[in-house]
Amino acid sequence: MRVGIIGGGITGLSCAYYLGKLGPDMDATVFDPAPGGPIGTVNIEGCILETGPESWLAAKPWAEQLIRELGLGDDLTGSNDAQRRTFVLRDGRFLTLPEGLQMVVPTKVLPVLKSELFGWGTKLRMGLEVFRNPVAHPDRSVSDFVNDHFGPEAVEFLAEPLLAGVYGGSPDELSAASVLPKFVEYEQRYGSVVVGTFRDRRPPSKNSIFRSLRSGVGTLIEALKSRVHIVNSRVDSLELSDDIGWTITADGKQSIFDIVIVACGANKAQPLLAPIDPELSELLGTIPYSGSAIWTFGYRRSDVPHPLNAFGFLVPRAEREARNMKMMACTWLGTKWAGRVPDDKAVFRCFSTDPDAPRAAVQAELHRLMEITADPLFSVGHRWPESMPQYTIGHAARVDEIERRASELPGLYLAGNAYRGIGIPDCVKSAQQTAKAISELIPALLAQ
Ligand SMILES: Cc1cc2nc3c(=O)[nH]c(=O)nc-3n(C[C@H](O)[C@H](O)[C@H](O)COP(=O)(O)OP(=O)(O)OC[C@H]3O[C@@H](n4cnc5c(N)ncnc54)[C@H](O)[C@@H]3O)c2cc1C
Repeated sequence: MRVGIIGGGITGLSCAYYLGKLGPDMDATVFDPAPGGPIGTVNIEGCILETGPESWLAAKPWAEQLIRELGLGDDLTGSNDAQRRTFVLRDGRFLTLPEGLQMVVPTKVLPVLKSELFGWGTKLRMGLEVFRNPVAHPDRSVSDFVNDHFGPEAVEFLAEPLLAGVYGGSPDELSAASVLPKFVEYEQRYGSVVVGTFRDRRPPSKNSIFRSLRSGVGTLIEALKSRVHIVNSRVDSLELSDDIGWTITADGKQSIFDIVIVACGANKAQPLLAPIDPELSELLGTIPYSGSAIWTFGYRRSDVPHPLNAFGFLVPRAEREARNMKMMACTWLGTKWAGRVPDDKAVFRCFSTDPDAPRAAVQAELHRLMEITADPLFSVGHRWPESMPQYTIGHAARVDEIERRASELPGLYLAGNAYRGIGIPDCVKSAQQTAKAISELIPALLAQ
């Protein structure tokens, strides 16, 4: 069976890998001019730096399963949780994010009571939240959801900076049902998300919250690339005909497939599917995208006065607007990860949702906040325009409709971060599910 995969990010590559495991009759080809998408690792001055993602959530097992299967289990590592602390910038000061938060939900009383990040009004609301009655709302924004449960300070100083770093979007537009599904479920079952979080609490794990590879996340991409068939070309068009199936045209060359997996993002899928199913294409176009930039700066440790006693800091929207800042988050790499930064260096990974964020502006912000006066030893930038799908209000219903329409086109599959999860593990899960669905077709196709 010939399978063409459009897009060789983590989704497309792992899909090809899983299909390859089904046996020699499964012939999968990945088309991508730049496989890996934003995932990649570079080594500069003895520092291991990421071009995009640097880790994933340990609670989601799918990426780790794949990594172990690829024989990279020994390279797995966890964040240095003994030093786990995050600062939030408020009125120009670094304030500690209270310990025990599960995303926006407080699970420890004392750290919240002692926190300078919130006023007494918010602390009181967090305490009284446990008395809410179960209720089912139509999908609403993350801001509305968090404001309803914990008040506006929790939106501005928790939800906004925490989610902006993951989705690159505004909580005013993101869908609570898609971005905080567990909490919406708790709201429906218990009324209170604090009560729901307590009831569902598992015994504390010895593992760290974030997982990665010692040698960098790019190692996963390299391992997959070495195991699958890749054509380094952009797909220009896609055709479907009853007699020959799917035709992919890339760099002027046509190839024919029984099955096509579109794993290049909804925004890039939209024009490819327009001639085949205009309505499906239009639906794909309703998923908006945002971009981002990562600027990484390295210094002599002796040039950085700060003790670097945290994983880094977040810059909430109010603070960015008040100070005209580009940076929304900064990771102190040497503290968060053992073995990535030599002891005599300090490395800062600065994240902006402006893909055009100029190096000089980000560097100036970093120098001001960290009181650095020396020039960096190195700086490296990676820009990712239109790379982050936005799960806006109504996203889940839109995806249901997209999948329903796609299922009417024989041999078409959509996979990737645009639909049911944006993190690396979600993408691997999407690849696993797609490969499984295709494997279930094999007996019927072989019988034809
Ligand atoms: C800066 C940044 C930081 C992130 N940090 C984290 C993190 O720390 N943890 C985490 O879990 N997730 C993180 N993410 C999210 C995660 O990296 C992505 O959701 C995931 O990599 C997406 O994988 P994908 O394969 O679905 O899509 P992509 O990686 O976007 O792959 C799509 C591929 O399709 C290709 N393509 C596009 N058009 C065509 C065409 N016409 N023909 C052929 N190929 C085409 C592109 O070249 C690309 O390689 C981050 C994302 C970004 C951008």
